[in-house]
Amino acid sequence: MQKVCVVEDENSIAEMIRMNLELEGFEVMHFDHGMMASEHFSQLPEYDLIILDVMLPGVNGVELCRQIRENSQVPVLFLSAKGTTSDRIEGLKAGGNDYLPKPFDLEELLLRVGVLTNINKKETAEVVQIGKCEVNFKTFLITNSDSGEVINLSKKEVSLIQLFHEKEGEVIARSEILDRVWGKDQFPTTRTIDNYILNFRKVFEDDPKHPKHFHSIRGVGYKFTK
Ligand code: CA
Repeated sequence: MQKVCVVEDENSIAEMIRMNLELEGFEVMHFDHGMMASEHFSQLPEYDLIILDVMLPGVNGVELCRQIRENSQVPVLFLSAKGTTSDRIEGLKAGGNDYLPKPFDLEELLLRVGVLTNINKKETAEVVQIGKCEVNFKTFLITNSDSGEVINLSKKEVSLIQLFHEKEGEVIARSEILDRVWGKDQFPTTRTIDNYILNFRKVFEDDPKHPKHFHSIRGVGYKFTK
């Protein structure tokens, strides 16, 4: 199920959005205060779309968007009564993907939500190059182009590499990795993830002590770069 976060201090608007997005099959989270939303985003929650009102108590929507962009490329849609060109430009400069002035037409909102949530669904590549290694997600094999060595991956390892690839350049929290790769029914410790990463480094990194691909982000999780 795709998840949308709505930050809007006018509860009637927020409820209207929530109801309609839930009817469209989205799971919806709502905050009515900028500060609470800011705290929530600092935990790096996973969303398919974030809808931000601009004028909010505590922290405004543009600031929230800047904060989100430090760690994530999740699509952001601004909603605002401030619909002048300069406001739109400010929102887009802060990293917003779209801007809908209030009052808005519900159908238009839903259409834009549809477009924005689809851009996030990247085609999953079959083969990915990481350093000297080629990873094949269909055959579960890694081939080292230097040594010619071929390594078999487990299903978990493939899922983990796919997640890193999908989120390339973004910080991924350990909790998100557990949620996405292990699911809610299994309870591995965060140490399990660390062990997987140690193994990946042995395979992919020229110098596992100074990784170029699988970076540790202290206190949070990991970041992958190709
Ligand atoms: Ca407002």
